Amino acid sequence: QAKAAGRGRTQFFSRELLASVEQRHRLVTQLRGAVADGAFTLHYQPKVAATGAVTGVEALLRWTLPDGTPVSPAEFIPAAEESGLILPLGRWVLEQACAQAREWERTLPEPLPVAVNISALQFSQPDFVEQVRGTLTASGLTPGLLELEITESLLAPEPEAARERLVVLRDLGVRLSIDDFGTGFSSLSYLKLFPVHTLKIDRAFVRDVATDRNDVAIVEAVIGIGQAMNLDVLAEGVETSRQVEVLTRLGCAAMQGYHFARPMPAAEMTAWIATRRMD
Ligand code: C2E
Ligand code: MG
Ligand code: MG
Ligand code: MG
Repeated sequence: QAKAAGRGRTQFFSRELLASVEQRHRLVTQLRGAVADGAFTLHYQPKVAATGAVTGVEALLRWTLPDGTPVSPAEFIPAAEESGLILPLGRWVLEQACAQAREWERTLPEPLPVAVNISALQFSQPDFVEQVRGTLTASGLTPGLLELEITESLLAPEPEAARERLVVLRDLGVRLSIDDFGTGFSSLSYLKLFPVHTLKIDRAFVRDVATDRNDVAIVEAVIGIGQAMNLDVLAEGVETSRQVEVLTRLGCAAMQGYHFARPMPAAEMTAWIATRRMD
């Protein structure tokens, strides 16, 4: 009987696995088509200083299926990474974001840095630095207006090689930030090693910061590290004015989240900035 139950369970799992493999395969096929068809767009979400000033925006990839259904990056980015499609896609994002940033550089009265998320596979390509340099040159964008968001996991496998690459990027004038900070397993000594400018505290620590003492302690510690090491610290996923109050009291100088604005198309972003300036 135990055997029968065991067999039943095995069957159940393999059917599930098959479904997910098929689903993944379908997703990859659709993705490949979408890269070719130009079905992707970028949305932009503002980063806001404690003073209320907009300090920059983050480019976030959006994919809409032919029937109009939006697919979340949380769903398709892992598939794009596994299939290697993140390489052409990531290149497109970088080019698109730099072109938009250049457009804003020419038309807005204040500088608006644009941040681009970089996947581990993209970062590890031998020609990645050349890709960034080439895209900057082609777009005419001032390098200091491009920020690259990388994750701890991307630095861990080969820290020395990653460091060298980051130094070259920094020397180009590009800004560097560590995204989802605190969720990876990298040692804090990495921070001394990597020439980054900003730590983005992951939403996981921000969500309950108004009610959870542990999250307060973590956020406070990260802000302390930032101050000690002369790094900017930004809190991600800020949704409520309570969170803003607590984070401000803790000394957090920059925030990003639905409380301020959701990610939006470039034209809406331009309009949003214009209305804020008039406030
Ligand atoms: P991320 O870089 O940490 O981006 C923040 C995510 O949190 C975005 O989700 C954003 O829409 C969402 N978010 C912002 N504010 C709030 C908030 O107040 N509450 C909540 N619940 N969520 C908020 P999104 O756009 O779905 O992207 C998810 C992840 O996918 C990103 O996390 C990033 O890791 C990845 N991603 C997005 N675009 C790109 C891209 O162009 N290239 C690469 N390699 N990865 C990307
Ligand atoms: Mg990011
Ligand atoms: Mg993040
Ligand atoms: Mg994230």
